[in-house]
Amino acid sequence: MSILFSEEELEFRQQVREFVQREIVPKVDEIEKNNVFPRDIIRKLGEEGFLGILHPEEYGGSNRGLVYEVILAEEISAVCPSLDMSRMSSATLYGMPINRFGTDEQKRKYLAPIIKGEKIGALGITEPNAGSDVARMETRAVKDGDEWVINGEKRFITNGSVADYIVLFAITDRTVDPRKGMTAFIIDTKKPGFKVIKDFELMGMRGCRNTHFALEDYRVGEENILGGLNNGFKVLMDELDTERVAIAGEAVGYARGAFEVAVRYSMERIQFKKPIRMFEAISFRIADMATKIEAARLLALRAARMIDKGLKATKEASMAKLFATEMAFEVCDAALQILGGIGYTKEMSVEKLLRDSRLMRIGGGTSEIQRFVIQREIYKEFEKSNRARS
Ligand SMILES: Cc1cc2nc3c(=O)[nH]c(=O)nc-3n(C[C@H](O)[C@H](O)[C@H](O)COP(=O)(O)OP(=O)(O)OC[C@H]3O[C@@H](n4cnc5c(N)ncnc54)[C@H](O)[C@@H]3O)c2cc1C
Repeated sequence: MSILFSEEELEFRQQVREFVQREIVPKVDEIEKNNVFPRDIIRKLGEEGFLGILHPEEYGGSNRGLVYEVILAEEISAVCPSLDMSRMSSATLYGMPINRFGTDEQKRKYLAPIIKGEKIGALGITEPNAGSDVARMETRAVKDGDEWVINGEKRFITNGSVADYIVLFAITDRTVDPRKGMTAFIIDTKKPGFKVIKDFELMGMRGCRNTHFALEDYRVGEENILGGLNNGFKVLMDELDTERVAIAGEAVGYARGAFEVAVRYSMERIQFKKPIRMFEAISFRIADMATKIEAARLLALRAARMIDKGLKATKEASMAKLFATEMAFEVCDAALQILGGIGYTKEMSVEKLLRDSRLMRIGGGTSEIQRFVIQREIYKEFEKSNRARS
């Protein structure tokens, strides 16, 4: 019995937990120590049906919705944040724009193999000179006969160097505001003109590939335009709400992973002849951590349920992402403090979760940008209700 989840959702969570124990836990050390990209686990996630939870049945998915994505993200991230980042970048960040804006042919060709785990996807927005200010991107696509020729650079792209396909944004009309002159393309990285410049060495997220790449006279046909010419900004904005809720689910996972280690340790570690949980400085900290994790989970689930019902949830998605990601870093840090010296070593998983969790106050839109979005939506709501009253 759960107030938060339905019977089906709980069954799904159990199925994911079993998968995580069987397929992921035994590989976590290798991924972390050797920075191995977990290609085989992504294939298994596909075989298990986990890469299709957001996608329609006719392309191999199960169309279960964003609440299931939040559950999946939490469970995998509690054990292996980098694996979930790769999974999500492929199935969700790349997959959702195609799901929502793709033609039937595009979905068959570019979404179905992602759902099976046979191919890997990535989402290419960020550039060296365009991060938070995405509209100022410099990548250009110019029409040449029946094709478009793309030139530009993208950086920090998760899965960039291992992706088969990328949903990539470029400016197609330079004479108008970039929001009206941007187009989304589906590009195939095996074609000439796609060039990996480098993979970044990251502070955390070992196992992930985070790539700076260039497009040099990369040619793509009209049939690879996603969501219509000059409609790219709409595709991009639509993707962000889903991404932010999914990241909130991941952040709850990082925090829970660290929290569980800290609770166990506080029961076993003896100092001054008692388990350290007997000191209120420890046990009250545990209480605060648990409360924050639960609050973040509720925010994530609220936004996910709104989106599943077809409601606009821009403010709620940003609130969930902001709170959950800031909470995750705080909770991982508190867990490390509870572990004392051993927490600072690689004997325990908490130092890894702390490093990994730091990313999500930046990726998917920084905390500052989330606060900007939340206040903008609040003032919009107030102005709307004022107008309705007058
Ligand atoms: C590991 C990793 C994975 C990533 N994966 C992807 C991916 O798969 N695809 C993709 O497209 N991108 C990806 N990104 C890029 C990520 O989304 C950007 O890093 C992020 O949006 C911030 O952009 P920036 O790094 O250029 O920082 P900037 O935009 O340069 O920001 C620098 C600082 O200024 C602040 N700032 C900027 N504008 C404002 C403002 N208006 N008000 C207040 N403060 C502001 C920011 O909050 C930040 O603190 C990834 C990044 C990392 C590090």
